[in-house]
Amino acid sequence: MAKKKKGPRQPAGLKCATCGAFGYITEFNKNNEQLKKQTSNTTTFPLSKYCSVCRKHTPHKQAKKLK
Ligand SMILES: [Zn+2]
Repeated sequence: MAKKKKGPRQPAGLKCATCGAFGYITEFNKNNEQLKKQTSNTTTFPLSKYCSVCRKHTPHKQAKKLK
């Protein structure tokens, strides 16, 4: 059995903001996220990713549930 690691790295699903298709699973660092907001007023999401449904790069939002 794999141990569940505790840490700032959180798994996140990425969903296409245009068509809503679930595209990617990624990890992001929660601590970096807060730092980013404070320093440059930007966030990790939405991310520009290729969507196979739209067949182009679209903004991808963080999905609430991982599939
Ligand atoms: Zn799409």
